[in-house]
Amino acid sequence: MTIIIKNGTVVSSDNQYLSDIKVENGIITEIKQNISDDSAEIIDASGCLVFPGFIDSHTHFDLDNGFTVSPDDFSTGTSAAILGGTTTVLDFATQNKGETLTEALQNWHKKADNVSSCDYGFHMAITEWNNNVSKEIEEMINKGVTSFKLYMAYDNLRLSDDKIYEILKRVKEYNGIVGMHCENGDLVNILIKEQLKRNNSSLIAHPLSRPNYVEAEAIARYLYIAKLADAPVNIVHLSTTEGLEEALRGRERGQEVYIETCPQYLLLDDSNYNLDGFDSAKYILSPPLRKRNDINKLWEAISKNYINTIGTDHCSFNIKGQKDMGKDNFSKIPNGIPGVQHRPVLMYTYGVCEGKMTNEQMCSLLSENIAKLFGMYPKKGTLSIGSDADIVVWNKNHKDTITVEKQSHNVDNTPYEGFETIGKAEHVLLRGQHVVKNGDLIIKNQGKYVYRSNKTFI
Ligand SMILES: [Zn+2]
Repeated sequence: MTIIIKNGTVVSSDNQYLSDIKVENGIITEIKQNISDDSAEIIDASGCLVFPGFIDSHTHFDLDNGFTVSPDDFSTGTSAAILGGTTTVLDFATQNKGETLTEALQNWHKKADNVSSCDYGFHMAITEWNNNVSKEIEEMINKGVTSFKLYMAYDNLRLSDDKIYEILKRVKEYNGIVGMHCENGDLVNILIKEQLKRNNSSLIAHPLSRPNYVEAEAIARYLYIAKLADAPVNIVHLSTTEGLEEALRGRERGQEVYIETCPQYLLLDDSNYNLDGFDSAKYILSPPLRKRNDINKLWEAISKNYINTIGTDHCSFNIKGQKDMGKDNFSKIPNGIPGVQHRPVLMYTYGVCEGKMTNEQMCSLLSENIAKLFGMYPKKGTLSIGSDADIVVWNKNHKDTITVEKQSHNVDNTPYEGFETIGKAEHVLLRGQHVVKNGDLIIKNQGKYVYRSNKTFI
């Protein structure tokens, strides 16, 4: 099966140029102008941008938070992803207490195998640490899991500082990378209690229980622990000015620090917690939405290339039957928002079209950097000869509005309701298969597990 993408503007992290791309047997085999082959399927990309398939390294599909299960599973979640131009997701396989990492990995394969419409891999979230788990790190690396995730908040997930230190040292032996949910769990717990005591029924209680310093303290502590362990770190979903300052301080000390932020921390502010009735519930996520000043600081950090990656932290919950479990107690509202479908169009509209990000930066932040950091480059994350033909033909002119009815996420709300958008994933190739045609998903369930190697990023 041969496909030629004609006359598009091919985007890389440092350049864009007019070219054709030839794809054979799932791989990019030629990149130059005026390629012809009478037997090939032709995709006309005139006037379009051509990006490497976008990669979302932060999704939670089919997530059981102990009370309820997120309605987007790997089937609906990856269908929404690829419709938006995301050809690979990295989800968080999570070790339940008492489980081995091998069992956790098997659980996630059961959820994802044969039903995913884009390629997928897993970070391993470690929630219990002992000698046996330590021995399993090597096996995880051998099974293509080269990144791990730890939590400093949530009592059922978080680990103490000594364990964090040990894990960082152990993962470093294999050149893996540890991502951290940075919030001080003790402080969050006491601040939630304070809010509940005040009987504050407004959902503003949520951000008040997780203020900026709670994130900044955790980032600072994480970075000093990593300094002692002499290990590189990844900070996921950075949301605050103070947290950014701590991360940059780590870099100034010479530490290898990678930073992820998410569209919600660039586009939505905490005024969404002042809505009438229970309407703010759909914005309950952690870290919470912040102030305009934080948003501006994060955009500035993007313009200076301080931020390495943009992921969604997609974790959808319905208002009806799920978020409303916390009607009388804000701390019982399941945390999370949908977003995996909309990340590229939001970043194109509110980043590129508003002059806050170039096409090249969009390519880096949503694809190339992620592939490098998580050991998939140059198979993924670039349009190069020999790379997987994961390709997005991006229509620059399509105008639309995000609504809950139009989204493909399997959930009854979107925090981006009414957001106007520019651009669209008109055609998407997944390893050379033309799976999205004129904006419609025509072939499903073609996603494969990605065996990842070590990061190539510095
Ligand atoms: Zn997350």
